Amino acid sequence: MKKISLLLLLIITACDSSDTESIEIGSKETEYLNIENFPHGLKAKNIILAVGDGNGFNQIMLSRIAIGGLDYRLAIDQIPNLGVSSTHSYDNVYTDSAASATAWSTGHKTKNRYLALDIDKQELKTITEMLHKKGYQNALVATSSVVHATPAALYAHIDSRYKYDEIADQLVNSSIDIALGGGLKFFDIESVKNTHYVLLDKASLNDTYDNQKKIIGLFDDDGIERGSNQPTQREMTDFALKHLSKDKCNGFFLMTEASQIDWAAHDNNANEMITEFRDFDLTIKDLINFVTKNKETLLIVTADHETGGLQILKQKEGSVTIQWGTGSHTSIPVGVFAYGPGSELFNGMMDNTDLHYKMLDALDFKNLNNEVCDL
Ligand SMILES: [Zn+2]
Repeated sequence: MKKISLLLLLIITACDSSDTESIEIGSKETEYLNIENFPHGLKAKNIILAVGDGNGFNQIMLSRIAIGGLDYRLAIDQIPNLGVSSTHSYDNVYTDSAASATAWSTGHKTKNRYLALDIDKQELKTITEMLHKKGYQNALVATSSVVHATPAALYAHIDSRYKYDEIADQLVNSSIDIALGGGLKFFDIESVKNTHYVLLDKASLNDTYDNQKKIIGLFDDDGIERGSNQPTQREMTDFALKHLSKDKCNGFFLMTEASQIDWAAHDNNANEMITEFRDFDLTIKDLINFVTKNKETLLIVTADHETGGLQILKQKEGSVTIQWGTGSHTSIPVGVFAYGPGSELFNGMMDNTDLHYKMLDALDFKNLNNEVCDL
């Protein structure tokens, strides 16, 4: 009897240790950012939506610990308004990126895999289409391909997120003015050159471009592999901001996604997840500084869902023990961090569809002038 319980104990201990992993606690001084006080009731002119795909609260917590320690403050930690969002799709507590990005893009719940279509496959207006009519410039940045689900929900209407070639065609003919990410293999570059400046390497982000054509940057065949010739999320986002802010009259909408937090979490690869997060947080730092200076831009940082069911368990000397619960998405609610004019709208508990209406409220969309500034 004793032997059996000892054996059981050994098996349980073995299972436990094989499921857990040790992550070293970092040590770094916090870089405190200048955070402006925006009184309630202000209207925003521009919107930046920064998305960490799969980036739940514990992905942020673990990254904070690994980058700087338990008391370190990331850029995302310094955003003053915090809400919580549910993420379920139309008929499932589990959402994929297509249904959740459709929620904030259109304000409607839909089925997993659908992009900007309702459950009867009727087209839903996206926020970029609505804003384009008001003279807005629209930009998207992703570390996945630009035809991946999260960016695609802003411009494509299709019943499967996996129909990449059709999604690429829809992007070229959409109201997106700047698209930066991976996905070269899905485009016929020669024909795209008729309508777009095509950027194929990191160095081309140093050049300036006029508004005669739209801009597409395709820096890898599919998702962007990190390397010295590939731009980071931060570099692509800084380029987009620089280009967008040249237009002093029309407003802009920018979505920037750290797509691969999700991929690393699917693989239960904490170190890779933290690498992608680090780039995301540096991007957020630049965005916070932009909002502070610009004063007319609302920044919202959120996630489409949590991936991996990540748990942070205990501390052993200089490390924390973590455990992944799944290789898939979970229904754990995600954070909504907001800074800038209208950011008070994003406090408290909300649904991912609410983000759409709150962004329109912050812009006072109903009263936006239809006239496009003539530059
Ligand atoms: Zn995923």
